[in-house]
Amino acid sequence: AELDTLDIIVLAAILLGTAAYFTKGKLWGVTKDPYASSLATANGAKAGKTRNIIEKLDESGKNCIIFYGSQTGTAEDYASRLAKEGKSRFGLETMVADLEDYDYDNLDAIPNDKVVMFVLATYGEGEPTDNAVDFYEFITGDSPSFSEGNEPALGNLNFVAFGLGNNTYEHYNSMVRNVTKALENLGAHRIGEAGEGDDGAGTMEEDFLAWKDPMWTALQEKMGLEEREAVYEPIFGIVDREGLTKDSPEVYLGEPNKMHLDGVPKGPFNAHNPYIAPISKSYELFNVKDRNCLHMEIDVSASNLTYQTGDHIAIWPTNPGEEVDRFMNVLGLSNKRHNVISVKALEPTAKVPFPTPTTYDAIVRYHMEICSPVSRQFLATLAAFAPDEEAKAEMAKLGGDKDYFHSKVNVHHLNIARVLQTVGKGKEWSNVPFSALIEGVTKLQPRYYSISSSSLEQPKVISITAVVESQHLPGREDPFRGVTTNYLLALKEKQHGEPNPSPFGLSYEITGPRNRYDGIHVPVHVRHSNFKLPSDPTKPVIMVGPGTGVAPFRGFIRERKKQVENGETVGKTILFFGCRKRSEDFIYDKEWKEAKKVLGEKFEIVTAFSRDGPKKVYVQHRLKERAQEVNELLEKKAYFYVCGDAANMAREVNTVLGQILAEQRGISDAKAEEVVKNMRAANQYQEDVW
Ligand code: FAD
Repeated sequence: AELDTLDIIVLAAILLGTAAYFTKGKLWGVTKDPYASSLATANGAKAGKTRNIIEKLDESGKNCIIFYGSQTGTAEDYASRLAKEGKSRFGLETMVADLEDYDYDNLDAIPNDKVVMFVLATYGEGEPTDNAVDFYEFITGDSPSFSEGNEPALGNLNFVAFGLGNNTYEHYNSMVRNVTKALENLGAHRIGEAGEGDDGAGTMEEDFLAWKDPMWTALQEKMGLEEREAVYEPIFGIVDREGLTKDSPEVYLGEPNKMHLDGVPKGPFNAHNPYIAPISKSYELFNVKDRNCLHMEIDVSASNLTYQTGDHIAIWPTNPGEEVDRFMNVLGLSNKRHNVISVKALEPTAKVPFPTPTTYDAIVRYHMEICSPVSRQFLATLAAFAPDEEAKAEMAKLGGDKDYFHSKVNVHHLNIARVLQTVGKGKEWSNVPFSALIEGVTKLQPRYYSISSSSLEQPKVISITAVVESQHLPGREDPFRGVTTNYLLALKEKQHGEPNPSPFGLSYEITGPRNRYDGIHVPVHVRHSNFKLPSDPTKPVIMVGPGTGVAPFRGFIRERKKQVENGETVGKTILFFGCRKRSEDFIYDKEWKEAKKVLGEKFEIVTAFSRDGPKKVYVQHRLKERAQEVNELLEKKAYFYVCGDAANMAREVNTVLGQILAEQRGISDAKAEEVVKNMRAANQYQEDVW
């Protein structure tokens, strides 16, 4: 048989791995699997690595570093794509870097023949993502101090910037805007425009694509780069581990790290290390036709996890078996899905995004976001590996033509395997290197849920309130089904005695890797939020939370009920709740009545039903009807909260509040808007929207 490129790469990887084993491994007296990836230990990944970016650039021979500030993985993904494109089109020596992994006081020492890119997501109310907090505080701080003492401090620094934001939020793309301003104030040179992607308008991907081409042109001029014909070069080598089977104890079958593999998961539990939590209770709050709403209670008492009312819990999903099968089949991986492989980064700065050795099945099921929207650029990359000329041409067209792509792929919510099935007319795409899939399909992300319990009442049991995602789309036979919420629905069915649950025909490996999630467990971690009740319980609160937006307010109300039971005095507590019909989806109706018994006149629920009468009534209408009372409460320093749909409801509530203030206080619209802005700045107006 001929040796193809991949074989050579794999051979090289084996040799490299072996060399590493015989040198470093021996020298340091460490016996470790030469193929084991750095992810194998939850927190050890960063141990012993330099935090000095200059040192890193020098030792790895790089001239372009792409820093990312990412919360949900999109910014990280864009950073990787820039790295790949810079390398394949312009021969740049690129590396991707987590902002959290480096210090910045020597940014001034980066020579001007190098370029630094920043891909920065804005999170929540204009905040940096968790991994970018330190960088953001440093660079936008009063007078950041740098190692070289140059004047201007960053006069040597060439940078490129792209931001990921959402225009439904007040502080749209404030991260990239503020960082760009700060860098420029320090004398750094921006190359091209600072790009801004808008998730609110649903144009993130297209904004990114439209921004990057002129940016490359500007960079080419600045650095004198020559464009060459882009050839695909894999970043990862795949090594068959013939000595191992899926039953070998060292093989990862979906365990997130070494502790989980060894069966002794330990805290701290966080975004790298989930707690496998028992679900103590689960039921449906309503279920009509295709709409289901779940209430689940997650018991964290055997862990050191803590939460406060208003925090978020992250649920780590697994992909539905049917979509895993579809992916395996169309890519010609089915017959080797349980083969054991190691994945080795062929680039010193690339990170394998999951622990190995593992199986194809485990990677696709537990680590790849195989159901999510497909990137147009990725389809263009895959054209080279199409099973025939017709499919190749179609992939190139989809990759190159934004409107065509939108009408064929986006509107039907097709995932990657469905696109390949359609374009290839059922043929197998067995030429696609597995590395290209690791690079092109994002990492499976945990989903966040607003905690709907009160930590005062139940500190060790966290509840969530989630609506099961399902959408009928014109021109698509089966409805689109959300990954995590249908997995949760399956868990609920299992808890209620269904041995092999398959809600809507979707089945999940519900007992987890090595059956360790059996007995109804789900991997979770907690994320602390700023969405909080006033520390003084006597302050009034106004809460606007239609649909599942009521989730954190259930927690708030239960908290105040508990405070009263403990003998405390609480302020007026008003909830504006909206749904379709009183008889259909009015969730927690009974609980509100119980709260009323304890809280008395302190608690009021104002309802808006959109389908109960001839006129559609929404929460913002009810808010307006109560204008006088709302204004009076705000004058008494009431806190105002909005939770739920970011795209429409939250925005309208913001507008209506401005109108209420203008009318009640006899001030101009502009002045009223100003008041609302100030309320936000002072945390008197808080949003938890998605
Ligand atoms: P996914 O599979 O992630 O799909 C979600 C959406 O992504 C789809 O509806 C669709 O619009 C889009 N999409 C996915 N795949 C494609 C595709 N191939 N093509 C095109 N579009 C696609 N939800 C609650 O129910 N309750 C809560 O309390 C709650 N709190 C939240 C708090 C925060 C801070 C955040 C960020 C979100 C919250 N959410 C909440 C939303 C929740 O995190 C999930 O997004 C939601 O449950 C859907 O998850 P899923 O995995 O089932 O759907």
